[in-house]
Amino acid sequence: MSNNKQQLLDRVKTDILRKNVCLNLADQATQLVMGDGNVNADIMFVGEAPGKKEDELGLPFMGAAGKFLNEMLAAANMERSDVYITNIVKYRPPKNRDPSQAEKKAFWPYLLKQIEIIQPKVVITLGRHSMGYFLPNMKIGEVHGQVQRVKIGDDILVVIPLYHPAAALYNGSLRQTLIDDFLSVPEIIKQL
Ligand code: URA
Repeated sequence: MSNNKQQLLDRVKTDILRKNVCLNLADQATQLVMGDGNVNADIMFVGEAPGKKEDELGLPFMGAAGKFLNEMLAAANMERSDVYITNIVKYRPPKNRDPSQAEKKAFWPYLLKQIEIIQPKVVITLGRHSMGYFLPNMKIGEVHGQVQRVKIGDDILVVIPLYHPAAALYNGSLRQTLIDDFLSVPEIIKQL
């Protein structure tokens, strides 16, 4: 099953490359950053886009925000190998600028394919860029940490929007809010 899922995920990657998705970003990036972790995970994290470290290493959340994410996972008794981590945009935007609407739109179908293959119990969006596509009319300040149910095709997807670790890293109160939300996730999943 895992092998099969990995093969299907590899096909998504090949598709992105073959269809030249976001060539403007691809031309300036080192590589496509697809995802990391367990293809059978219950939890799938969706961040914004790779940064410098992620672009170099080909893996998501490897810099300061990634270190914070790892710490929160450890505090919740999890490791990266227990979850799956990806981004909405899969190439590094130059100088780490925000991804544009067009870039998010271009990668959205591929993110949906990743979700369809992995079948997580919960998608956790990190920050407003990935939240915006799942929960277009919501404000992160009002809904962070709360379960939302989103209809995608014929399926209902459980989405929990969280603040982005990079935004919370150096902001004391946001940092604590993110940690509290994060630590409530295992209990939320048990009750689904
Ligand atoms: N921030 C993100 O949103 N994604 C990464 O992969 C790294 C930092």
